[in-house]
Amino acid sequence: MGAPSVKRTSRDIRTANRYEVLRQIIAESPTSRQELAAATGLSLATVATLVGELLDLGMIVEVGFEDSAGGRPRGLVAVDAAGGVLIGVDLAETYVRVELFDLALNVLARAGEETSPGENRPERVVDRVASAVGSVVERAGIDAARVLGAGVSVPGQVDRATGVSEYAPNWDWHDVPLLDLLAERIPHPLYLDNPLRACAVAELWFGAARGRGDAVVVNLGTGVGAGLVLGGGVHRGVSNSAGEWGHTTLVLDGRPCHCGHHGCVETYTGAPGIMLNLREVSPHSPLLRPDDQTATVDALARGVASGDPVAVEVLEDTARYLGAGIAGLINLFNPEVVVLSSWVAAAFGEPLLDAVREAVTRHALRRPLAATRIVLSPIPTDPVCLGAATFALEGALQAARRGTGTRADTPTRARGSRAGTP
Ligand SMILES: [Zn+2]
Repeated sequence: MGAPSVKRTSRDIRTANRYEVLRQIIAESPTSRQELAAATGLSLATVATLVGELLDLGMIVEVGFEDSAGGRPRGLVAVDAAGGVLIGVDLAETYVRVELFDLALNVLARAGEETSPGENRPERVVDRVASAVGSVVERAGIDAARVLGAGVSVPGQVDRATGVSEYAPNWDWHDVPLLDLLAERIPHPLYLDNPLRACAVAELWFGAARGRGDAVVVNLGTGVGAGLVLGGGVHRGVSNSAGEWGHTTLVLDGRPCHCGHHGCVETYTGAPGIMLNLREVSPHSPLLRPDDQTATVDALARGVASGDPVAVEVLEDTARYLGAGIAGLINLFNPEVVVLSSWVAAAFGEPLLDAVREAVTRHALRRPLAATRIVLSPIPTDPVCLGAATFALEGALQAARRGTGTRADTPTRARGSRAGTP
């Protein structure tokens, strides 16, 4: 894999502007070119060109005119919800979830199932994903040719260009050619990335990071990590592994971690780590459901809501670890917003948010802390599915761009084929 260029090329800027205009149209349909220019800070001429491209792609449509005070009526554009569909796949340690979206990113169909962390052979995983993808397309009654692409999020480190899951510590996967395996079964362009990037992109397009230059999306699930939005875009690092905050050392010589080291953030704040926190507080607690992370976290969340002292203590312990770790992120990145995302954050909700805010205050520097808001993800559906579908949307935009004669050297590689790709 060639080293990515450090310099932002004019093509990158154009792609970013195109995303920005489409984001704005998705957020505020219908809208006029003038409103888009005002909202994005781009010139009216640039907006007009980008809107023209999106119209040509069939992603948006003209929907009439609005009167402007004293001036010419302004043409309105809106997302063409029927212009195609996108699929988002959230492949997690404890479940597979697949959602099918229209171009306004409304969910049209879902499929999925709980899995146990032991059922992790790549062939089994690919079977599950392929059948869930087939099932959402069928349920939505969609012609397969209308699927613009499927984004797949898989935990751990992935090579987006080759579609290889390089390392998934919780599954002990090493160099699994996941996209090739999926492409044998799924007839749509496929885009691979991990949940950190998916959550970050979902918050950037549709959630708490919208319109923010710098944001940290803390992903709390079985694994833990930080999706980084820096300078208005998702930060990937030189080999797409930025944000592996879950494997930074929180406790010297602490708990052993799947990654081979000790005392990682994840071993105290991921779902299995929270189970260990519970064991330390109350080794025989009825809240503990051995081998079932989801049930234990749900039982703890219910316990916190009903004032169970053991559950409250576990929440506070977990928040202390998170607070120290998140304070480091705030000191490092000086973000406008820190978003708590993924299923563990959703399960605990406000009580976790309150405890984390308090703990962060004890560790972060005052100045960056004062500039930061810590919030729960406002995205009501699975943010990883939404983010993965957004990768497919970005991929479709880039594929179309390649079709207009631009050199194709983007890191995202779409597999499979789609009839009608320009
Ligand atoms: Zn680790």
